[in-house]
Amino acid sequence: MDFPTVCPTCARENRAEFADSSIYDLTCDRCGAHYCVLVRKQKFEVLFDLGTRALMDGYAREAVASFAAALERFMEFYVRAVALERAAGTDTDFGTALAALDGTWRHVASQSERQLGMFTLAYLLREGREPEFLTPKGLGTDFRNRVIHRGSLPTRAEVEAYAALIFALIDRLLSELGTGAAHAELAQEQAFAAHLAALPDGVTVVFEEHPGMFRARRFGTLTPLPKPAKPAGGAGARVNDARAFQEALFRRALAERGPQLAHFKRGPVGP
Ligand SMILES: [Zn+2]
Repeated sequence: MDFPTVCPTCARENRAEFADSSIYDLTCDRCGAHYCVLVRKQKFEVLFDLGTRALMDGYAREAVASFAAALERFMEFYVRAVALERAAGTDTDFGTALAALDGTWRHVASQSERQLGMFTLAYLLREGREPEFLTPKGLGTDFRNRVIHRGSLPTRAEVEAYAALIFALIDRLLSELGTGAAHAELAQEQAFAAHLAALPDGVTVVFEEHPGMFRARRFGTLTPLPKPAKPAGGAGARVNDARAFQEALFRRALAERGPQLAHFKRGPVGP
């Protein structure tokens, strides 16, 4: 999957492939200029946007893997934000805290169950309450496993409901994190700084903020959506209301951000 970049020397559009680091060292196809594009975007955002694009393009089944991966990477982002936020309140400097965090994460990096355990404790320590959403129903686990591990062919409506569930959960946790998210973003800025320091002379550096489903929320530009009133019925009514709210939230984000994602994918109109 790739995205458009613009050569800072001759303005030609060169496409770059999404990479894990968010750092792209590029050479212009037309003028040969060397430039480095640094994309201020977290892995979970890239994955969720890829899932959204797949869904918009009619690849419902393929979208599920991206949404599921987005949730896992968001949990990592959350753990990193909480760990760095706590260290910021102590005498430990950022570099030392980040090195300790990276070293710790290596012990859990290859097993998602261990990562889930890290997330569970991080949530308890920060919020002082049980992460009640960590149930198969709250995470859409059965649906995810049916599609990813058992080859089930989901309907578009089922995938939209799953996307809405993941979107609403990440959106809620980002809201709870608030400014705490900045601590994990600072780690990305530091990786950028280290890369810049090692660049040879004559390379132009370009910072980019890509549009995305969550970026809009973090900067507060998504139209607020009132929570539904408490239902009069029993537990079943509450579950249906929660689902309706998630789907309305996701549809709203899609309506406001979807066209930008589509434009972003095709790149600027013209040759
Ligand atoms: Zn150029």
